[in-house]
Formats: sequence, C-alpha cells, structure tokens
Amino acid sequence: MNFNIASISGDGIGPEIVREAKKVLDVVAKKYNHTFNYTEVLMGGCSIDAHGEPLTKEALETAKASDAVLLGAVGGTVGVDKWYDLAPNLRPEAGLLAIRKGLGLFANLRPSFLYDELKSACPLKESVADAGFDMMIVRELTGGLYFGDRKTETVDGVVTATDTLKYDENEIRRIAIKGFEIAMKRRKKITSVDKANVLDTSRLWNKVIAEVAKDYPEVVVENMLVDNCAMQLVKNPAQFDVILTENMFGDILSDEASMVTGSIGMLSSASLGATKLGLYEPSHGAAPDIAGQDIANPIATILSAAMMLRYSFDLDKEADAVEAAIKQVLKEDYRTVDIMTEGMKQVKCSEMGDLICERIA
Ligand code: NAD
Repeated sequence: MNFNIASISGDGIGPEIVREAKKVLDVVAKKYNHTFNYTEVLMGGCSIDAHGEPLTKEALETAKASDAVLLGAVGGTVGVDKWYDLAPNLRPEAGLLAIRKGLGLFANLRPSFLYDELKSACPLKESVADAGFDMMIVRELTGGLYFGDRKTETVDGVVTATDTLKYDENEIRRIAIKGFEIAMKRRKKITSVDKANVLDTSRLWNKVIAEVAKDYPEVVVENMLVDNCAMQLVKNPAQFDVILTENMFGDILSDEASMVTGSIGMLSSASLGATKLGLYEPSHGAAPDIAGQDIANPIATILSAAMMLRYSFDLDKEADAVEAAIKQVLKEDYRTVDIMTEGMKQVKCSEMGDLICERIA
C-alpha cells in the first residue's frame, strides 16, 4: 500500500530521532511491500527561523493532505533560547497547538508498557513491577475544564476565579467510539474513569459510554472513580487495558501512568481525530541539552511510528513487527545512555535505530 507521511523533525533532538524512525519505516516498507512517501514540514523553532512563525498555513495544509504526521519535538532551552522573548503565539510550542487544532485532533493516546528488561527503572515495588503492565490511556483532548469559559472577578470585595467544566454528548460520543475502536485492537477491556459521585459531566459521560458500549458487545466496560484510578495505577496497574477518560483526568493520569514505566525516552503518543489522519510523536520534548550528540533514545519516536502503522494505516502486523524488534534489542542488552545500567551495552541513537531495523522480521 501507498501512504503519504508529513515528517516534522522540529528542533533539538527532533531531527536525530525522526531520522531513526524513518529508517525503521523504510525497512518495514521494503519487507512488507509498502511505499511511504515523506514530505518534510517545518514546525517550531526551525520554522520561526525560516518563516517568522512556528507553523505556516502551507505547512498545515501539507499536514492536512497527508495520511499521517510523524513529529519529533519542538522547542529550545526554556528561559534562554533565542525564541524565548517572542509572544506566546509565535513561540515554537504554539506550532503544536496550531497543528493539533488545525487537524481537528480530539483523542490523545498514551501507551504505558513496562518492558521486562527495564523493570529496574520502575519506581513501583518489586511485586507490582514483576506483574508488568500494558495499558493505553485514551484522553479527550479538546473539551472539558481546559476549554471552558473562565474568569477572575471581584465579588463583594473578594477576588474570585471561575473555570467551567462542560461536555456535550457529541464530544463524549466521538471519544468513546475512539476508545472502543482501540480496545477492539487490544485486550477488549475499557476502564471508563469519571467522578460521577460529584459531577454532572461525569454522569453524562457514563450514560454516553453505556450507549456506545452496546455497539461493542465484545468489550468489557467498567467504571472507576478518578481518585480510585490514581491509586490503582500504583497498586495494581496490570488490571488496566484501555483507560478512557476526559481531558483533565487524562492529563493527570497519563503522566502518572507514564512515569511508572520509569524512562521518558520510551514513551510514545498519538493524537487522533474523526478520520484516520493522526499525529504521532514521542511524549518527551526536544531535549536541547543532548541535541546533536547522537545519544538520544529514538525508541519513543519509533514506537510512535508503530502506532502510526496501527492506527492510521491499519497495518497491525507491521506494527507488531516493529514492537517485537524493540523488545528483542532490549533483550539483547542494548541501551541508549538514558536507560543504561551496569552490564548493558551502550549504543548511540543511530546505532539503536540500526539494531531495531536489523531485527524487523
Ligand atoms: P524534555 O523532555 O525535552 O527533556 C527532559 C529531560 O529528559 C532532559 O534531560 C532530556 O535530555 C531528557 N530526554 C528527553 N527525551 C529524551 C530522549 N529521547 N533520550 C534521552 N533523553 C531524553 O523536556 P524539557 O527539557 O522540559 O523541554 C525542552 C524543550 O522541549 C522545551 O522547549 C519544551 O517546551 C519542549 N517540549 C516540546 C514537546 C513537544 O514537542 N511535544 C513536549 C515537551 C517539551
């Protein structure tokens, strides 16, 4: 099959890690008889330098016209980079918000998976880490508290701030459908997270989830209060397959779920909209402190490329092959510096990419 990918290297380590992900995709293309065409798109600091803005209209149009967008990271060293004094809407990170909005991406996917070989990095107690975990947080991305009306005013002489938490049934339904579709590609279990003992939005959330669930009889659905979920993530993360939740709960829980894996260079993510077009990027930033040294861990970006194969292109077999190759490399004790421990074999960013390519079956 033939797919068009908008490739955004961005800033810092972005070009190094995207290069490795493309290397891996090219091996997949050759082995499985596909064609991936890349169009380079500037975003972030590099676009500011070239065009005076973090994302041009043309760049957004290129992204919109593609089948998927693969992104490294954008941004410089916070506080000291040359873009720091620009207005917020002209800084590198504004490109991220603009592309997410421009592509209509309302679902954020963050997998949290504990590799056997990296269990020592897991901050949870040994018995919990030994059980392992493999979950996907599906978070609503464009509604709820972060997008509601807000104001700060003086009421009867007292400064008072108000934020509004609002969801309509259509917003909930479209993220619910995404969540169920993703569960169907996994172990077919959804934990829907809410605060229905207090919030009306959560009660509506649960009602719509229950309606959508009728179309997916194979998926087991459970409801969990957000405070309980925060506890269960550190007590028994193995119980989760897909965690489906609204924007703010997802913001907090996805960071908690990723930190229990212990290694930032391993965490992938995807943002999806109503169509198959998605944006795939590592969860980490541009890491300017190590940029240009060929020492960054490219695995989060390569895993994001595997998500692109699975969710935008429906190439599940190919995605499995990439994930298996990563597991094999770790099993053979190869590590980039961020996940290096005693007795392991330290490799550079480009070597890690090569090792993964060689193991794609
Ligand atoms: P960061 O994630 O870039 O770096 C945090 C720490 O983790 C650094 O020590 C870095 O060296 C290390 N690290 C990150 N990714 C790594 C990898 N793949 N391999 C090895 N080590 C890795 O976060 P930060 O320092 O807070 O932000 C740096 C810049 O990135 C800022 O300009 C910030 O705005 C931007 N940022 C961009 C995105 C994005 O593009 N989606 C996300 C977060 C931060």
